[in-house]
Amino acid sequence: MKSPDSEVEAKTNKSVYHRKGFGLKEEVEGELKSVYESPLLENLKKSGNVITQNGITVRLAEAFGFCWGVDRAVSLAYETRKHFPERRIWITNEIIHNPVVNSNLKEMGIRFLGTKPDGSKDFSSIGEGDVVILPAFGASVEEMKIIEGRNCEIVDTTCPWVSRVWNRVVNYGNGILNKESKLKFRYTSIIHGKPDHEETIATASRASCYLIVRNLAEAEYVSNYILNGGEAAAFLKKFSQAHSLGFDPDKDLDAIGVANQTTMLKGETEQIGKLFERTMLQKFGPQELDKHFLSPGDTICDATQERQDAMLQLVDESLDLMLVIGGFNSSNTGHLQEIAENKGLPSYHIDGPDCIGPGNRIRFKPLHASGCDEAQDFLPSGPVTVGITAGASTPDQVVGAVLEKLFSIRSQNAS
Ligand code: SF4
Repeated sequence: MKSPDSEVEAKTNKSVYHRKGFGLKEEVEGELKSVYESPLLENLKKSGNVITQNGITVRLAEAFGFCWGVDRAVSLAYETRKHFPERRIWITNEIIHNPVVNSNLKEMGIRFLGTKPDGSKDFSSIGEGDVVILPAFGASVEEMKIIEGRNCEIVDTTCPWVSRVWNRVVNYGNGILNKESKLKFRYTSIIHGKPDHEETIATASRASCYLIVRNLAEAEYVSNYILNGGEAAAFLKKFSQAHSLGFDPDKDLDAIGVANQTTMLKGETEQIGKLFERTMLQKFGPQELDKHFLSPGDTICDATQERQDAMLQLVDESLDLMLVIGGFNSSNTGHLQEIAENKGLPSYHIDGPDCIGPGNRIRFKPLHASGCDEAQDFLPSGPVTVGITAGASTPDQVVGAVLEKLFSIRSQNAS
């Protein structure tokens, strides 16, 4: 998989950034394989991603599970532990949205930052000389400033696909040269993402002026405001947690550039981009369009796109149900389930093998719900075909363990 940006090392105050690892990749590789790979899945991939056991046929998506950026972030964390065996190592957040990976890091002595009574992160435990790992989806400008002030070693595992979006919103704010007029124009960043997702928070912190839209419906509301105006107070209330300080919908929507959280549904980001292009075309005309609108470009990451494409292909097969495996707070996993739901397939978002059982029972997170639900007899009787996919932060080992648990339902029934 390609990496869009080169990696650099930089020094800030007395804090030192590490972005290339410590030359220990080969040393940690064996450990990572033994913990995160699955012999069952290796065999399944060799047999064309289809396997039948105990009357259950499993069809695995062509692309699923660990992506390049997650693989790199986890490997950097393991290298960090090896390189600094005696130092205190902190991580500002879950390194990726997967409970197994995060609990393994804890077992290696990597500490997760606590929270203050108001729910914000508590950086006070980080001392001079400590090591701080930034997760794959990055950290906000404010957080990075606090950490830099602690004079520590910072291991930045931010995925280059994420930093590419950061560059885009920084450029929108600094101004982009218009080829015809030779003048620079500034744009408000319209970010298609979830306002409470760490990646979107980090991206928004780099935009001088921004508005976050969750979905097409919110984008349509904004489009209508641009074309027809409305109550600024109602607008600001609707987007209360999703705009920059001092945002004025009557002034700040005059020139907009679209950006996105890298793991959103690609089709929806494209629809939002096109909607705003039509909106600005209608308002300002074709001659003025590029002064008022910039498209998101290709900023859905390769891995997200491949997994969504594979899922679209899989749901066209004859399936009885889908299991979508990934952390419950993983955005890209939720979007994979959305594809199954849109197809009308019974689907269950689970975060690992413990969600299955005892017997023919499943604990799962319904789409858009905040908590989990349970279903009895989720696996129909008789021959059944189950589609399986996993989000970009799910190791093969977890997928393999889910399959074993699934097959065991029928062997338990038979015994
Ligand atoms: S899902 Fe995409 S953006 Fe996120 S870590 Fe993986 S490659 Fe990077």
